[in-house]
Amino acid sequence: MTLDYNSLLLALGVSAACLAVTLMGSWLVRRAETVLLTATVGLVLVVSGIFVYSAYVNRPQVVFAIGSFVLFHAGFATIWGAGKQFLTGDVSIAAIAIRALAAMAASILPMLSGYDGLAFIADNLAIALLLFATARQYWLARAEAPAPLLGIAALYTLTAVSFVLCAAVLVADGKLVLGKAPSNWAEDLSLAICIAGMTGIGALSLALHQWRLAARHRLEAITDPLTGLLNRRAVFDEYGTRPMGTTAAVIVFDIDHFKSVNDRYGHAAGDRVITVFADELTAHCRPGDTAARLGGEEFALVLKEIMPGRAELTAERIRRAFEAREIPIDGEVLKCTVSVGVAPGRSTPLDFDAMLSAADKALYAAKRGGRNRVELAGHLQAVPLEASRTAS
Ligand code: GH3
Ligand code: MG
Ligand code: MG
Repeated sequence: MTLDYNSLLLALGVSAACLAVTLMGSWLVRRAETVLLTATVGLVLVVSGIFVYSAYVNRPQVVFAIGSFVLFHAGFATIWGAGKQFLTGDVSIAAIAIRALAAMAASILPMLSGYDGLAFIADNLAIALLLFATARQYWLARAEAPAPLLGIAALYTLTAVSFVLCAAVLVADGKLVLGKAPSNWAEDLSLAICIAGMTGIGALSLALHQWRLAARHRLEAITDPLTGLLNRRAVFDEYGTRPMGTTAAVIVFDIDHFKSVNDRYGHAAGDRVITVFADELTAHCRPGDTAARLGGEEFALVLKEIMPGRAELTAERIRRAFEAREIPIDGEVLKCTVSVGVAPGRSTPLDFDAMLSAADKALYAAKRGGRNRVELAGHLQAVPLEASRTAS
């Protein structure tokens, strides 16, 4: 049994429709992923275009050709829009519409003038341009997940090239008027590439979607939503059991009298103070440093490479910078301070947990010493904490 062009065309239409249903299903499960909806709309338009074009192959009436041009160009422009949305996070209906309308004008005008050969050349070139532009979006996004994104970019490029070939064969034939759907080796090849390309792009897109979801969940699990800093779990994951030597330091911060900010100005104002401090902390981070919100209004800064004696200077700079910050709240200007405990690295390496509790003890001393100050953990060795705690 041999399959004719039209049967293959319908097979492409049916499998594209199945892919559209799958994409739509993925979108229904996670509505926030509107890029899936954009891709679904694009695919539905292309599928409709395939069925209308199939009608034109059977009965070459101008209305079918124009219908397929409209649907294909709207569909491929929307698929380009989905690629752009994947890259930038924004969908621009105007940008999609401009590309769709330009492609439609280029192919419909010659069709209406009776030059259907010219119309199909323009149609193929317009689709090729939209596909190249789509490939470019995934190429630009490649850093996120190189293997699937380069695969998608390659398949869009290959499909685009097959449409260029269709146009090239029509140009070589030089017929301005065809009277029917173009039929040549390039059309057959392009159809085969479309079937393979769409299957591959569909599978890779779904894999990519899952990959993105998993990556986002991983990120959410280690990020503090209020400040965007790493959370307690993330620092323990990173430093939990790693021994820290002389070049490392752990600094902990606790905002002073924070409860009274909440009581006097409300919880939202408290949150604002927390984010202001987080910004200050981030501003003082060098590459390699780790800033984290341990919880409430408590923060940690882990310095991986720091000269002896410098960690306390960094701590003091941050304390002073935060003290100077004017935080506008409800027309008033609020000023807050922070107490800081510093555990500098020692010649006998300690693990992160031990460094953190040393820094915590220093912080406790800073609080007791009157707040808004930096204390060094080293000093505590001379004054045992338990003794001073019972004394106070
Ligand atoms: P001290 O100077 O001794 O640190 O006094 P403090 O008032 O800051 O005391 P403490 O550290 O015990 O207060 C922590 C308060 O932070 C208690 C809690 O209601 C508040 N808090 C914890 N998490 C959040 C948060 O996410 N947002 C806000 N606005 N408040 C929080
Ligand atoms: Mg606290
Ligand atoms: Mg506090």
